[in-house]
This record gives sequence, C-alpha cells and structure tokens, in this order.
Amino acid sequence: MPRFPGDFAWGVATSAYQIEGAVTEDGRGESIWDVFCRKPGAIRDGETGDVAADHYHRWNADVGLMAELGLTAYRFSIAWPRVQPLGKGPASEPGLDFYDRLTDALLARGIAPVPTLYHWDLPQPLEDEGGWLARDTAHRFAEYATLAAERLADRIPLWITLNEAFVVTAFGYALGVHAPGQTLMLGALPTAHHQLLGHGLATSALRSAGARQVAITNNHSPSWPATDSAADIAAAKAYDNLHNWMFADPLLLGRYPDLSAFGVGPGGPDCVRDGDLAVISAPLDAIGVNYYSPARLSALPDSPLPFRMEPIPGYPVTAFGWPVVPAGLTEMLTTMKERYGDRLPPVHITENGCSVRDEVADGTVDDQPRIGYLDSHIRAVRAAMTAGVDVRGYFVWSLMDNFEWGEGYHQRFGLVHVDFETQRRTPKASFAWYRDLIAAQRRPT
Ligand code: BGC
Repeated sequence: MPRFPGDFAWGVATSAYQIEGAVTEDGRGESIWDVFCRKPGAIRDGETGDVAADHYHRWNADVGLMAELGLTAYRFSIAWPRVQPLGKGPASEPGLDFYDRLTDALLARGIAPVPTLYHWDLPQPLEDEGGWLARDTAHRFAEYATLAAERLADRIPLWITLNEAFVVTAFGYALGVHAPGQTLMLGALPTAHHQLLGHGLATSALRSAGARQVAITNNHSPSWPATDSAADIAAAKAYDNLHNWMFADPLLLGRYPDLSAFGVGPGGPDCVRDGDLAVISAPLDAIGVNYYSPARLSALPDSPLPFRMEPIPGYPVTAFGWPVVPAGLTEMLTTMKERYGDRLPPVHITENGCSVRDEVADGTVDDQPRIGYLDSHIRAVRAAMTAGVDVRGYFVWSLMDNFEWGEGYHQRFGLVHVDFETQRRTPKASFAWYRDLIAAQRRPT
C-alpha cells in the first residue's frame, strides 16, 4: 500500500437507524423509517430497525472495537427524532445525552467524532406535513442543527449536514423503494432543492452555534454510456446531471446543471426562490464523497426518466450484485476536480465498502473479497491524490453489519460480523487487515 499523508483520517462510518435500535427509548419520536418498515412488502422479510445492532445499548463496547482498529475518525449519524421527537420544538435532553456520551468516549480514545445530521430518518410528523416536498422542512432542519451544535459543537471537528440527498429524492420520493415510499417520479424534484436549501440554512446555523468545519456528503457514480450511440451518450449525460451534478453544482457553482432532459428549466426546479442558490452555495470546509460503483446507462425513449441502468460486464460483483470497479473512484474524483477546480473543497471519502456473504466459521469470518475491495479502492484514492485531488480521509462502510434499508439484514457490509439473534460481534479478517493498514500508515517513517 502506498503511503498516505500523516494527518490523513482513517475512519469507519455508520448511521443511526441502521445500528441503534431502541426506537422507542428515552423519548425518541417516530421516524419515516419506523413507519415505512411496517408497510407490508416494503422491506425484505418484513425486517425493521427496531433492534438493529443494538448500538444504543452497546455503544461503549462498539467504541472499544473502534479503538482496537486504531481509527482516527468515526462518522456516525444523529437521529433527528431522538433530538426533536416531533421534528420541531425544544431539544430532548436524553436524546442529546446519548450523542454527548458517545462524543466524549470517542475523544477519550483519540477518535475524531464526525456526525452526520441527516441519514434519512426524518421525524414522521414532518413527513405528515409534506416532508422534503415542503420548503418548511429545510427551516426545521436548520433549527435541529442548531440544537445539536449548541450541545456538541465545542468537541466536534467536522459536521456533515446531509447524507446522499440523491438517494432520498430518487429512492424515497420518486421510486418509493425507501421511506417515505412516495412514487412521484419527476414530481420528486422539489425534494432535491429543499434538501439543498436545508443544507445551506443548516450550514449557517451550525456556524452561528460555533461549529468549526461543515461538509455535506453525496454519493457519486461515474455515468457511462452503454454504447457509443448518440442516444446512449445523451442518456448517460442526463443521468450524470441528475445523479452527480444536480447536488454538487448548486453547492459548488451556485447553479443547477442542465436538467432539460427532465423538463426542468435553467433555473432549476420550479420551487427555487431568489436567494436560495446563494444560501446553498455558502463555502464548505470539506465535501464528502460516497462511492460504491459506476452506473452504465442506455437510452429509454418516451419515458419520464429517459435512461435505463445496464449491467457492467467484465467486473467481479459484490453480494449485492454491484460491480467492483476501483478505477471508477479515481475517475469520479478527478472528474470532480476538473469540473470544479479550486472550488472543490478538500474531499473525504465518507463511505466505501461492499457486502459479502459472510459466515462465521471457527470463531472468525474470512472475508477476503472485502479485503480485496477495500485494498483496491484505497489505492484508487491514492491515485486520485497523485493526480491532484486533495483527499483528507477515508471511511469504510461499515464498522459492523447493520440494517441495510430495503434489504433488511441480508447484506453484510461490516468489518465486524453481527449475529442479530445474540448481538455477538465477531471481527472479520478485514477488521485485522484494516487495523494493520492504519497502524502501518501511522508509523513514523
Ligand atoms: C448509504 C448507507 C448504505 C450504503 C450501502 C449508502 O448509500 O449511505 O446507508 O448502507 O450505501 O447501500
């Protein structure tokens, strides 16, 4: 493994609904995921995050695992319905206390806490008032950000506002495969703008409450045409604009990309108001990139979404069926650098990892495919740095197996295996591999 800079952050990532469980404890309010999971057929085998990896009760032992890894940073998410059970109003002290204790435990182990304020668990009462279709949700989000920062900002080096707004818009509001399960197709586009606005308002709220550094995380996929026909090239371009640039351009350039393939004018979705783009494009201290795989598109004429996802032949696939293309990560990062130049803030790879059909045998899990995936992708990050991209950190998705949204507990992404019957944690071979990598990188030359 090539050498990374001495101050490079080595981390893992998780999110609240995927690991915490304890969904009715200490006054936590209901989230859209609690409600969505109860919908028949929504989640594979009717599974829910009610217990998940029981991290709400086992957080201290889990921080012990992080310390064993030698992590220098941990990305987790704060559950909005724990902090504001109804999505508005005063903070719930027991909810904040949980993240307060976690923050202190991390710092005591020399691990930088990197909280994400929104990893998809919108308080249900806000969804009842329109969710991200409603502009007011952006203001509610900023208010919640203030409450979190007033309690934690003195100890948090880096905040992340939103996780993957694209997935919320596409899966949650357009296709209905994630909470809140709406199937609005292009009618979902206002949720993109309102999330971006929420990010902008929260950024300023966080700074007013003393936050040191603020970032946002999006997931990015290089978008490849299935063939070199003009129609497929146009389809890939349309997808690229929707998935990659609809979020990054307003943040970094203060304008929307060309969304004409979706009937959107140059100013962006109709709900954009004067001044919004200035709020959204307020300077960032860093940007989070989540990367799993590229996308390959062919044209789909006469359809509201004028593209179709095609398989990417010629690469190994993960247990999820996602192609393993490490060079896609280098390509994505260098493409962003070309597009934004000096406007691209320092980058953190805030998620990267793969699901494997892991099984415990003789007290261990020999997840060689995950080691191969992580090794090749970390090298791909280094290659992007050599090509001039300023990358400051890398976070494996995920610390431990967890609730994988629509797939329930069927996809295991962890460095630590979780037996969901007993909650027993078993570090996998990849855990030891990542621990050794971090130790080698941190050893003085
Ligand atoms: C999300 C995670 C998820 C992972 C694997 C990302 O899109 O942020 O919550 O578990 O991908 O699907």
